Amino acid sequence: MIEYWADNSKNELNQRTFPVMLPFGSTEQHGNHLPVGTDHLLANAVVSNLVDRYKTQIDLSILPPLHYGKSTEHANFPGTITLSAHTLLSTLYDISLSLKRQAIPSLVILNTHGGNVGIVDCALYDIRMDYGIDAYAIHLGRIFESLGGKCAFPYSMHAGYVETAIMKHCYPEYERLYAITPDKGIDTAGFTKLTDIQSLISWGWATEDISAQEGYMGDPSQSTAEQGRKILEAAVDVLFEQLKKICMRTKGRTL
Ligand SMILES: [Zn+2]
Repeated sequence: MIEYWADNSKNELNQRTFPVMLPFGSTEQHGNHLPVGTDHLLANAVVSNLVDRYKTQIDLSILPPLHYGKSTEHANFPGTITLSAHTLLSTLYDISLSLKRQAIPSLVILNTHGGNVGIVDCALYDIRMDYGIDAYAIHLGRIFESLGGKCAFPYSMHAGYVETAIMKHCYPEYERLYAITPDKGIDTAGFTKLTDIQSLISWGWATEDISAQEGYMGDPSQSTAEQGRKILEAAVDVLFEQLKKICMRTKGRTL
């Protein structure tokens, strides 16, 4: 059964042996056509679709999400609130310590923001070695990339095709923003700069290097709510397959 951790009482959670999943998003600018909560709203959308369609098929407890992430690259735009690397690492370690005290066997971090990738991947090894918890990360952006077509780079980086389509499907209440979805397509010059430099180099870029004014990267112009529904379902299917592997590994493991 897939459940929400916060819905249980202390007795119900006593000696819980499920793997747990921590949704990890951000609060950052997503252009003018999406709200700054997009990354954690996407995490909520993915989790509720997973619960709706796969609730009875695996044992998993969903932790309350982290709504702030490492958004340094967007720091010069209004709406962005970023935590530092050491704050986030400490947060992940503190959560892991609490889980360790309750003998939780494994932790899956469901990350919906590109800027969190380095922090999360670094933390996994420490969580495993220092807290004895099998630690995994699933980066939603990689699942979208795996779907190919317009779900992949360069159409769907930040506030591009995928995020805009899923937001339109799951959160119609932001219609006032979707009405100003830009129609100029991809900023080719910005992306050329990014791909040229990053072919053999890791670059600490800032959003204004790629998208000086608009703040989005990719092409949100053709995204529709119906495409968002299809992408969300396809992504959750892939997510479920990964979670199944993790749940199978966890079964029978004792700390
Ligand atoms: Zn985003």
